[in-house]
Amino acid sequence: MNKFVIAFALSFVTFHTQAQTFDACVASLRQNAIAQGISPGTLDAAFKDIESDETVLKSYDYQPEFRTPIWDYLAGLVDDERVADGQAKLKEWSKTLAEAEQKYGVDRHTIVAVWGVESNFGRIQGTRELVRSLTTLVCANKRQAFFKGELLATLKIVQSGDIPLQGLVGSWAGAFGQTQFMPTTYQRIAVDFDGDGKRDIVNSVPDALGSTANYLKQSGWISGANWGYEVQLPAGYAGASGRTARHPLSHFTKLGVKPIKSGQAVPAETTQAALLLPAGANGPAFIVFRNFDAIYSYNAAESYALSIAHLADRLRGGGRFATPWPTDDAGISRAERREVQQRLVDRGYDIGEIDGMIGAKSRAAINEFQTAAGMKADGRAGQRLLQALRAPKAK
Ligand code: CA
Repeated sequence: MNKFVIAFALSFVTFHTQAQTFDACVASLRQNAIAQGISPGTLDAAFKDIESDETVLKSYDYQPEFRTPIWDYLAGLVDDERVADGQAKLKEWSKTLAEAEQKYGVDRHTIVAVWGVESNFGRIQGTRELVRSLTTLVCANKRQAFFKGELLATLKIVQSGDIPLQGLVGSWAGAFGQTQFMPTTYQRIAVDFDGDGKRDIVNSVPDALGSTANYLKQSGWISGANWGYEVQLPAGYAGASGRTARHPLSHFTKLGVKPIKSGQAVPAETTQAALLLPAGANGPAFIVFRNFDAIYSYNAAESYALSIAHLADRLRGGGRFATPWPTDDAGISRAERREVQQRLVDRGYDIGEIDGMIGAKSRAAINEFQTAAGMKADGRAGQRLLQALRAPKAK
């Protein structure tokens, strides 16, 4: 055999073995599932023609080389469009939201803010089949015990009939529905809030809103308390900061930290508080309380929790942060991101779909444009790039 033939034969053997291993893995998962009471009929439907999904493994291994600055992250999640959409949803679902407030003690603005950030009010729930993604991860030995638990929880949802199999699609890691719950979270937290006997966070808005409220309640939400507020630091502040550096509010008050807006509801000085400096001492500063931690538990990132908290404030009629982010090139909204993409297309760049999401293709095109325009080529979509794209084309 020449080299090419050997290589081909080896790759065929490898492929064949991988396929066999995957099938054997699925067979073993079926045995686990049957032991947990899942019926063969459910398993036949769930595993029908299943194949490994290599794109899921790529996402698992992907280490984003592009770290989003917090001002870009917030500019995309809390923009005028999302505030307007959220206000429309508050009206449309006011009866359901009043019931959720009554039952779980979580205010409607926070519930709607989570809904808006998690799935853009149900519009973006993910497109990957949960059973396929989770089986792929388990069989490729990625955090096997964790994803196996999520897969078995998914199979139990299929068996329950609460959500049709074709509705069980979501992120590559298995978060699904309007609340983007993981399957085990669904099992623990999801509620039937429209009373049809099914817990359907994919197709039922009331079930999604009730389940979100229940999640926050289970995470220690204190009814009637606020998450926190923006504060002014005294010059040269060198005291404690960070979400887990908790002290009574009086500790910070004594150091000269005070709310920026007068009339802000300030809790008792004995209340446990923390000082958040998401962009260091020269950016916006926030005092946060227990309810901020409840939001944080939904998705463990401070920038995430701040976006929910801020969107909830905006939905209540509050304004933008008083202190600007420490940058001379601020972030842009989703409408402006779509404009950036449209203007790049008009200039002949390929950015994929104009969707307001700056992915790898958009960043590559931005890089090219920035290089051609003599700008710093960092692939970032900010105000400076937008202004450069709006300038007339050089002839
Ligand atoms: Ca229901």
